[in-house]
Amino acid sequence: MPGRNLTRDEARERARILTVDAYDVDLDLRSAREPVGGGGQTGTFRSRTTVRFRCTEPGAATFLDLLAPAVHSVLLNGRKLDPAEVFDGARVSVQGLAEQNELVVDAECAYSRSGEGLHRFTDPVDGETYLYTQYEPADARRVFATFEQPDLKAPFTFTVTAPAHWEVLSNTAAQGDPEDAGDGLRTWRFPATQPISTYITAVVAGPYHVERDHYRRELPDGSVLEIPLGALCRRSLAEYFDADEIFTVTKQGLDFFHDEFDYPYPFGKYDQAFVPEYNIGAMENPGCVTFREEYVFRSRVTEASYESRATVILHEMAHMWFGDLVTMQWWDDLWLKESFADFMGTFALDEATRHRAGWTTFANRRKAWAYRQDQLPTTHPVTADIRDLEDAKLNFDGITYAKGAAVLKQLVAYAGRDAFFEGARRYFRRHAYGNTVLGDLLEVLAETSGRGSEAMAEWSRAWLQTAGVNTLTPQLTLDGQGRIAELAVLQQATEDHPELRPHRIAVGLYGRDAAGALVRTARAELDVTGGRTVVAELAGQPRPELVLLNDDDLTYCKVRFDEDSLATLRDGLGDITEPLARALAWSAVWNMTRDGALPARDYLRLVLRFAGQESDIGVLQSLHQQARSALDHYTAEAHREEAGRLLAEGALRELRAAPAGSDHQLAWARFLAQTAVAPEQLQLVRGLLDGTETVEGLEVDQELRWALWQSLAAAGEADEADLAAELRRDDTASGRRLQLHALASRPTAEAKAAAWHAVMDADDLPNALIEAQISGFQQAGTRELTAPYTERYFALLEDVWESRTIETAMRIVSGFFPRLLAGPATLADTDAWLAGHPDAAPALRRLVLESRDDLARAMRAQECDAAA
Ligand SMILES: [Zn+2]
Repeated sequence: MPGRNLTRDEARERARILTVDAYDVDLDLRSAREPVGGGGQTGTFRSRTTVRFRCTEPGAATFLDLLAPAVHSVLLNGRKLDPAEVFDGARVSVQGLAEQNELVVDAECAYSRSGEGLHRFTDPVDGETYLYTQYEPADARRVFATFEQPDLKAPFTFTVTAPAHWEVLSNTAAQGDPEDAGDGLRTWRFPATQPISTYITAVVAGPYHVERDHYRRELPDGSVLEIPLGALCRRSLAEYFDADEIFTVTKQGLDFFHDEFDYPYPFGKYDQAFVPEYNIGAMENPGCVTFREEYVFRSRVTEASYESRATVILHEMAHMWFGDLVTMQWWDDLWLKESFADFMGTFALDEATRHRAGWTTFANRRKAWAYRQDQLPTTHPVTADIRDLEDAKLNFDGITYAKGAAVLKQLVAYAGRDAFFEGARRYFRRHAYGNTVLGDLLEVLAETSGRGSEAMAEWSRAWLQTAGVNTLTPQLTLDGQGRIAELAVLQQATEDHPELRPHRIAVGLYGRDAAGALVRTARAELDVTGGRTVVAELAGQPRPELVLLNDDDLTYCKVRFDEDSLATLRDGLGDITEPLARALAWSAVWNMTRDGALPARDYLRLVLRFAGQESDIGVLQSLHQQARSALDHYTAEAHREEAGRLLAEGALRELRAAPAGSDHQLAWARFLAQTAVAPEQLQLVRGLLDGTETVEGLEVDQELRWALWQSLAAAGEADEADLAAELRRDDTASGRRLQLHALASRPTAEAKAAAWHAVMDADDLPNALIEAQISGFQQAGTRELTAPYTERYFALLEDVWESRTIETAMRIVSGFFPRLLAGPATLADTDAWLAGHPDAAPALRRLVLESRDDLARAMRAQECDAAA
């Protein structure tokens, strides 16, 4: 569609000549009373926008963004414009602007089923309909007419008419009680927001279950800050909703951020809504944060899930200042808010909540995301070059979030914690309600860090403006007495990204204590620069069992080991007592596996041998994921079956050994469900489901039941009738999603065809159900059944990109890529498509290039494994 993809140049031009003074947005949601119909009938609603704006060049022309099926009328400064002339489906063009302008656009907008714009969901449990908005980066234009760019901030006044029994929320608290609007409807009026960007405006509406609490704080000037708190979920989830725990973390976060930022929360109330079929983790709409409702736990989850939810709550809260109060000018600087919020989420988790393992999780899970992304051919500097909205959409990636956060962690090591927070405080005061670019952050850091502006510019160039990850390797020379003569750190870069960087790192030496545990015997902290840096401080130390570079995880790099250290890990990785050091060792051997520097079966042996000793539940769960991935993608074909059998046997052994009722027991039960292949394992799975088998302390609740069914389905031991019966037990949104996943996992050509067609032929399937079916389709044990789809996949790519919304298209393009079929034929097909489509949308090419790289990596790793 013309004009759908707003460019940076267009946005700059609008910002040059326009200042927006106010939006009034009136939404009539009466049509949402009806349940969502099938067959693409998601329905429409009335949306009336009045926007007042100034123009520095009277007579000039501009446009508003609006993705809507129809526009009823357009009024510019009292003058009627013909919608057929000025509206093309994506933009409302206006000419002859005055100095002061008032534009009224009365439109018919469409509800969304893809989570972009105003999403509409009907609960299968009670037939109630729930709505919420999600806009970032540019979907407010699906709900009202807007200048859809972050630097045209304005106060927004929302008015919403909806069924009388609903709750309706927005960024501000509704003014008084909603008014009766007749016909079983009421009208909610929300006072103007502070000046904010369009992408963080929000409306949440439906018969939500609401819990309330309150936060109160005395400010340094003696005044009192009161923040009403709300927490919402669907009614049918209310029995599982632990709002108390959510409020506890919320208050701890508000305390922490007020202590550190010294800028009172500027947006009044703070509601947190857990919403269905949500595409992402959460969104930082000021005063009205939305979360994926999987964070309302229907069944037992491990402590890692509570930790992850708390991190997300704190990440979004950090955005109230970094992102909402001060906002990037354009999506090039998305990292300004995301890196910061990602870093602060873990920082606040560690300092302010009961969760103690935040930095271990960060080192092990979050950084794995960054390392993967940073080695793709499409990687980019943390500060990106974002030409348009499609670029922006793909930039919510492992670089912008995880690498950026890791780089800020390195900045704190480099500049000091106090300097970092003083910099943040100045940044908020200086730029409140404004927009910023990289230079604005560097300016405050140069002031507060004492490193000076030249050093900050150099640091920024090395870390923010160049791409790629460095590899650090220890080089150890011993003297005649078996002591360290010299320990050096070698730094490498890649051909594509040759930058060597200054790293502030710690180096740990480890030895065995009397009980045989691997403990740190010496530590040095130093600046590593260039290709080789000598760690002078550690000369003369006794020969260590293990040299761990980047101990304490201060910098962002890949770490390798010397031969002796690697031998120590093979025999005793689990003997490292310090959880963070152990997590770093796990992370390093995982990176080696992915790089084809350690055979996948060696990695699986490490997991089989030491995962049972892993005390950190988050690390254990990521080991399970990585083991599954090592088996599916990196193990040589000839050894895959045997390796899979050993992994499942190990899972069963550890399940039996885990303490009754522990998180570890639950994690191993889930892992067994993912790996079971042998008859006796599948028999246990079936027995757990029908109650003929038990594992002491393990409660087989609904989510675990689905995981067990999934296991049987993938093995061809659950049919449609079995899964339909389970759905009758759990006919909920989650149940329907998990049933589709299990159905698609079955090892039959019919099951694969059904999943393929369900995704490719329907255009109103929510992304949650698309993901479920793609994931079942790509069940590793059924890979040969997916081979016939490779050709169809490549033939349909451009069609999918053109015809679906970008959120859905991204899922289909990456999801259906034949990633389980790693081999020369798939690689050749991929290369042929890339060569034949040089002009395909850059964002589409990026997704295919990334999948190609994963495939080539899998082939290298399999070769390494085959040669072992
Ligand atoms: Zn964020």
